[in-house]
Amino acid sequence: MSNLLRTWERIIIHADMDAFYAAVEQNDNPKLRGQPVLIGSRSGRGVVLTASYEARPFKVGSAMPMAQALKRCPQAIVVPPRFERYTSVSARIMEVFADFSPDVEALSLDEAFINMSGAEHLFGPPEAMALKLKQDVFEATGGLRVSVGVSHIKYVAKVASDLGKPDGLLVVPPDKAVSWLAPLPISRLWGAGPKTQARLHAAGYNTIGAIAATDPRTLERQFGSMGPHFHALANARDPRQVARSQRASSMGSDRTLNHDITARKDIESHLKRSAERIGRRLRGKNLLAGGVRVRLKTSQFKLLSRQCTLAEPSDVAATLYAAGAALLDRFDDPGPFRLVGLAAHSLTSADSGAQLGLLDNSDKRQLETTLDAVAEKFGDSALRRARDVDTLAKDTPDLDFLRAHDKVDDSDR
Ligand SMILES: [Mg+2]
Repeated sequence: MSNLLRTWERIIIHADMDAFYAAVEQNDNPKLRGQPVLIGSRSGRGVVLTASYEARPFKVGSAMPMAQALKRCPQAIVVPPRFERYTSVSARIMEVFADFSPDVEALSLDEAFINMSGAEHLFGPPEAMALKLKQDVFEATGGLRVSVGVSHIKYVAKVASDLGKPDGLLVVPPDKAVSWLAPLPISRLWGAGPKTQARLHAAGYNTIGAIAATDPRTLERQFGSMGPHFHALANARDPRQVARSQRASSMGSDRTLNHDITARKDIESHLKRSAERIGRRLRGKNLLAGGVRVRLKTSQFKLLSRQCTLAEPSDVAATLYAAGAALLDRFDDPGPFRLVGLAAHSLTSADSGAQLGLLDNSDKRQLETTLDAVAEKFGDSALRRARDVDTLAKDTPDLDFLRAHDKVDDSDR
């Protein structure tokens, strides 16, 4: 490759879909286009997951209680979320990103870092890369728009895509990054939450430039280890590489039984135990399940599967179990069965759920989180509930799995 083609030492794109859930709904349903749309549940405690750009002038946004949002924007159309649909559109978008680089780090369903270093000979200079990415996403999704920020470090690329929204394309060359950051408010500093921002303001720092110009030792005295971190970011230094993500899209637990079972309560016992394991593993990996799948294998080796989407993503075993048990009604085959499997699919990061107030903070979740700590200390078997021991004792161990690519066997549908 000719050196003439190289532009910057490192080229990092941050790509983030605009109002993703709302945009998918508007794209799928022309009647919603041009309308203020709120994705979420109308029910009592529901929050807005995404507001379409038409709704945003009314000062409504993510994580706001739905009731409050509807007071501000009564004409808004409330659409319940379809996480399964968003997951499949997301998969298409991530495929487009993967066409640009082998190094794609997905941050959520609709957001990723893409390492484009050294790819000028394929895509041209940074601005052309960004433009082609936008066009390819638009075409692959039949009309969805992505905002793109490009720079030499993750931090600047991320801020650039945020500031460009919607339909943004902002390129910040490395030698311009420090001066570009300087006038931005400290709310744009990565890692500075509301409390830290208040402390920064109180100490007289109002812009990123003010932090960049301060001696890092002074910042360390004032803010501890965060000080030098902020100083580095403000000076456009961010050594983090784009980490290829291998996020599993399903997590499950299949049990091949030593003896075939037919009775529903026996199948349910197995589902319950699997749900407890999966719930614990989801919480351990900080993931939420968007849906649940049950697999049964008959004694004739016929594999049957049914799946459903949860009303809200969850990591609560009781919720996973209830969904799995309800799926049993949808199997016609009376058995007997030699394998019972439960899987959580459409996995997303729990961080985004927590941000949106999605996490089910029920007593059940608290209990399960407490049990996680016990299991960590004393081992899994300490937790087995006495009433489940009888049915489970004679079976082979669980085959837990994590799958990066979900190939759902729907042939029996
Ligand atoms: Mg987005």
